[in-house]
Amino acid sequence: MSCNPNLTPQELREKIAELKQKRNAIILAHNYVLGEIQDIADFCGDSLELSIKAAENTNADTIVFCGVRFMAETAKILSPGKKVLLPTPDAGCAMADMIDLNTLNKIKKQYPDAVTVCYVNSTAEVKTGVDICCTSANAERIVASIPAEKEVIMVPDGNLGANVGNALKRKIIRYNGFCPIHNRFTRQMIEDRRREFPEAVVIVHPECAPDITAAADAALSTGAMLGFVKNSPAKMFIIGTEIGIIYRLRKENPDKIFIPLTEQAICPDMKKCELFDVYIALRDMKEEIILPQEVIDSARGAIEKMLK
Ligand code: SF4
Repeated sequence: MSCNPNLTPQELREKIAELKQKRNAIILAHNYVLGEIQDIADFCGDSLELSIKAAENTNADTIVFCGVRFMAETAKILSPGKKVLLPTPDAGCAMADMIDLNTLNKIKKQYPDAVTVCYVNSTAEVKTGVDICCTSANAERIVASIPAEKEVIMVPDGNLGANVGNALKRKIIRYNGFCPIHNRFTRQMIEDRRREFPEAVVIVHPECAPDITAAADAALSTGAMLGFVKNSPAKMFIIGTEIGIIYRLRKENPDKIFIPLTEQAICPDMKKCELFDVYIALRDMKEEIILPQEVIDSARGAIEKMLK
């Protein structure tokens, strides 16, 4: 977060709109970022939707990515000809940082015939060492597409790996990474919320531990949550994911009620980007995501395979 001593939110929005035109830029934002950023984004979505958007051959010269570093890196890998800007260069992902290429290679050595599936929440460097990427929206489909006789390694999220393994009744060789925000949910929280709001539908994210996804009514990516809520006759929902999604859920469903499973489910990195940061990013064209060409070439295959 940069310091903004002088400009009002309205002035910042106007300056951003002017600069966006001047730079021929689009703004992509993850569903977890602050509401003020979701409101100015050209497109909000989950990791899969944002990857697809980044891969689209839009006329934009610049992508301003409001989210965390691995997402901006994915956009750069898919659109290497565009300038990709990350307004908050220190916005990382605790889960992505739990594994590096060296560690991945050691695991692969233990299972030389296995297919390696990598959650998109991983560094560009790790993506260079895997066969195919997945997101929380398509992880089951990706693993199901791998022949049954093949062993499957999933990194870095152990919870996602366990949830996919349970759903497909398939053994998955899992790494023990996790999202600290989703890992803090407990069964007790679900029981307490159900007691408070017995008519509410409980939706959690597949990054939650298997006992949490089993205790919920549905485990969905944030993009799928939006579709589920829209089509559901229910009026009240308990949301077990980073609370940023609740801003969009409320905006798109003003007649429905959304209760966080816990108010503490806040990812500090997702909350770093403010209007002033987007303004500075477009004004000064920074921080630009620069990746070595060999990393782009080598990581792109795994992401494109997923998108196909
Ligand atoms: S919510 Fe979890 S997985 Fe998502 S960016 Fe934050 S730490 Fe990473």
